[in-house]
Amino acid sequence: MSQPGIPISGGAPAGLQAQNGAASASGSLYTNATKVFKGPVQNTLMSSQVSVSQGYNSQLPGSYPHLIPAKTLNPVSGQSNYGGSQTVSPLSNYQGPGQTLYRPLVASNPVTTSLHSGFVPRMPLPTFQNAAATSMPSGSFLPGASVQPPSNWQYNYPSTGSQTDHCPRASSQSMSGNTNLTTHQYVSSGDPSLQNSFIKSGITPNTNNGSVVVHNSYDEIEGGGFSATPQHTNKNPTMNRSVGYSYPSLPPGYQNTAPPSTTAMPPSSLNYPSGPQGFNQTPLGANHLTTSMSGLSLHPEGLRVINLLQERNMLPSTPLQPPVPNLHEDIQKLNCNPELFRCTLTSIPQTQALLNKAKLPLGLLLHPFKDLVQLPVVTSSTIVRCRSCRTYINPFVSFLDQRRWKCNLCYRVNDVPEEFMYNPLTRVYGEPHRRPEVQNATIEFMAPSEYMLRPPQPPVYLFVFDVSHNAVETGYLNTVCQSLLDNLDLLPGNTRTKIGFITFDSTIHFYSLQEGLSQPQMLIVSDIEDVFIPMPENLLVNLNESKELVQDLLKTLPQMFTKTLETHSALGPALQAAFKLMSPTGGRMSVFQTQLPTLGVGALRPREEPNQRSSAKEIHLTPSTDFYKKLALDCSGQQVAVDLFLLSGQYSDLASLGCISRYSAGSVYYYPSYHHQQNPVQVQKLQKELQRYLTRKIGFEAVMRIRCTKGLSIHTFHGNFFVRSTDLLSLPNVNPDAGYAVQMSVEESLTDTQLVSFQSALLYTSSKGERRIRVHTLCLPVVSTLNEVFLGADVQAIAGLLANMAVDRSVTASLSDARDALVNAVIDSLSAYRSSVLSNQQPGLMVPFSLRLFPLFVLALLKQKSFQTGTNARLDERIFAMCQVKNQPLVYLMLTTHPSLYRVDNLSDEGALNINDRTIPQPPILQLSVEKLSRDGAFLMDAGSVLMLWVGKNCGQNFLSRVLGVQNYALIPQTMTDLPELDTPESARIIAFISWLREQRPFFPILYVIRDESPMKANFLQNMVEDRTESALSYYEFLLHIQQQVNK
Ligand SMILES: [Zn+2]
Repeated sequence: MSQPGIPISGGAPAGLQAQNGAASASGSLYTNATKVFKGPVQNTLMSSQVSVSQGYNSQLPGSYPHLIPAKTLNPVSGQSNYGGSQTVSPLSNYQGPGQTLYRPLVASNPVTTSLHSGFVPRMPLPTFQNAAATSMPSGSFLPGASVQPPSNWQYNYPSTGSQTDHCPRASSQSMSGNTNLTTHQYVSSGDPSLQNSFIKSGITPNTNNGSVVVHNSYDEIEGGGFSATPQHTNKNPTMNRSVGYSYPSLPPGYQNTAPPSTTAMPPSSLNYPSGPQGFNQTPLGANHLTTSMSGLSLHPEGLRVINLLQERNMLPSTPLQPPVPNLHEDIQKLNCNPELFRCTLTSIPQTQALLNKAKLPLGLLLHPFKDLVQLPVVTSSTIVRCRSCRTYINPFVSFLDQRRWKCNLCYRVNDVPEEFMYNPLTRVYGEPHRRPEVQNATIEFMAPSEYMLRPPQPPVYLFVFDVSHNAVETGYLNTVCQSLLDNLDLLPGNTRTKIGFITFDSTIHFYSLQEGLSQPQMLIVSDIEDVFIPMPENLLVNLNESKELVQDLLKTLPQMFTKTLETHSALGPALQAAFKLMSPTGGRMSVFQTQLPTLGVGALRPREEPNQRSSAKEIHLTPSTDFYKKLALDCSGQQVAVDLFLLSGQYSDLASLGCISRYSAGSVYYYPSYHHQQNPVQVQKLQKELQRYLTRKIGFEAVMRIRCTKGLSIHTFHGNFFVRSTDLLSLPNVNPDAGYAVQMSVEESLTDTQLVSFQSALLYTSSKGERRIRVHTLCLPVVSTLNEVFLGADVQAIAGLLANMAVDRSVTASLSDARDALVNAVIDSLSAYRSSVLSNQQPGLMVPFSLRLFPLFVLALLKQKSFQTGTNARLDERIFAMCQVKNQPLVYLMLTTHPSLYRVDNLSDEGALNINDRTIPQPPILQLSVEKLSRDGAFLMDAGSVLMLWVGKNCGQNFLSRVLGVQNYALIPQTMTDLPELDTPESARIIAFISWLREQRPFFPILYVIRDESPMKANFLQNMVEDRTESALSYYEFLLHIQQQVNK
């Protein structure tokens, strides 16, 4: 597939290839020693005499004598030649593989031509596509000097009608000069799922840089997205061959099929109905669409028009449920769970013009790797997929007869493979439509070897610890090392699991954990300008074989640096070292940092100005260096994901540091003001979250592709990843707690289509070394009227997508611009509704039932930490909130944005859940307004990452003594972060409720008990979205403002 649209992505595989090529050409990275002993690599653990070697390190003398335990180890052999191979050129000089490194992305061509990979862009590239590619200033805004950011979003690139219908093929060659509207045409012409309409199917333009690594781009995901040539050592000879060509690029079953051109698309799309066929019907001749969309699942309530100025309380007292797509129940019952996959519009507008009219964003929100209780897993030698667009067979395809099925994305008619005729579940032959693959919208396949370009990697975990004075002060090492010790046996993995550790301050310390040593050896590299890896083969070791050494080290580490005076932090060089160490295999790098990096590459300067915190302008949301992004892209290329744990009381420039995780598909954790004594509740939080982090499921060397029915086009991705080609997300690691969002447009009219489908496919290596593919398919109806589009709007998904877009807008334009755009999103859509749907113009603010919470959620977004103004929010906290918006699944994002408020001093068992013999009360959710509070009650606010229990001054004695365990109000401790477990039903109920809330999320919300005069009360009140604050409107004032604008 031609993917010229996004140079970064296009460039990446090539870049990676070159890197790997270089490495393999020189043999094993580290045996080819070209470098003679450089710098003080020492075995400080060995003996105090050797701890500081003469002259090698002027900074070190005396710094580490306390490190040295009494044990004596063999001196590191070959100390004078560690062979820090220089085949890898210093990263500081390294040209990224064609990445856009600077933002904002304006008119200059971001594709570096001096790529080390020699990658040549296939076509001239519209610059702003990089925005989407790097997902930096993505959004559908049009960054670029020539374009004034519109006051509102253009939800779709080709927002003008003329662009909508034009032929992508025709335009694709001539768009280099145009930075704006042409983008998605690249997408379309290159998008495999669409290409049949323009290109003979199967003719995949392979212009991949002349290097033939990826034969067929749309097999990248399933054919192994990495163009990596393994660099394994000789332990396993099979891993040494260049496997890039070893596997067929198509599953064998498809290899000898007739030329795909025999099935040109457009005719078939006319000849065959597009809808899925009822599988229960007789398979033969079942090729007409059930035209009945009559099974309308819409409740009459859903058809109501609401005047928000009159009906003030629209918030349901139970958690808001996503709308059910208006599909025939036979289809809907097979549909994907909205927790995994949902769309902002559950009724897809037939044309872009209709979508434009609705002024609502069209996009998907995904939680693709969510932990699932039930997941059908299919092991079959044949994974049945569309020969044209590579869609996996799914519940929404139609069977024309027993032997043929029609793809619901590109409409190609495919043969049913012989093996598929047999249903392993029913053990019946001849009912392919009853196979699990066509009965489950969410399914996982065990991938055969065609889906690999190298043998599945082992689980590799590298921990990188800041051990500067500041770090030691926080005491975090105790918690982390203890958590690791506690969970060492629970790390996902198998006998191949590898582990390693690096610590750093102004120098970098490695730890040899080679099996057979009597204790770990510490090796110090003080040359941070040109980092090399001493003894690479002993630094990442097999966990099983070296477990005792690892445990030894974890027990020793927290004490080793307690007397350090070293205040500097050479984070950048440490990351470079870690990257080099992990490059041959890939894996997960967990970095713990407690301050602003001050030494070497990637050093940063403070740039937060406290007195500007409250202003919406001039705040530093963009990275101050491209170092972390560049390194992240290198990591991504080598299947390394970097998770950042920032534990810092001071400004640490998360805007810059966060890039290391963002582009390598890692996660960011932030513990402001972490201190083991002064802030014990943070210790508990870190412990709990580490436990989840260390033991949760993990997928390695993953790629994700999202396909959609021909006519629709995906154009912008949100989340932590790197876009490798127009629609292939590179995820060196995938974790079950990450969410993603994409924006879409309607590229071709869907008038002949009644149903469209979206399919995400996530190919990953499990911690057990299996290659697996997790597939989710969502089916939605197509509608032709504006009213139907509005009726099917999913307001939570819309708010979530807008939040993602607003983060991008904040970065590319400004915070105030993003805030304006959020408000305009409400005004525009409600204006459209008023002018185009409502027949009689009544006074008031009229909204469709589906959007009754739209103004409230947008107001909540304006007051959310990411976008709020007028507060003293620290810059890093704001940036972290923005990271969360981008990386959290929708359900948590909504909770952070619009918390749930409950009255809890009168909990009862009425309507309670019963889970495993536990009774969980379900109090009603209240509006976020002080009007709902009363002094004689106690109220729990669940704001996602924090729980706040406000106790009113006149709260009943019953609650005080039987829940809080105090005799009177004054005795409630000033800082109370835990409820005592008392032997009363009241205590049991609230504890059950709070535990249940906590169990449902991957992070650990701290509980604060707040008295009326507590300083935390301000935080509690800040979340009262419906109330006015000094700098923000109340909900009612906001509604009046919207009404004014709408009725203009
Ligand atoms: Zn297809």
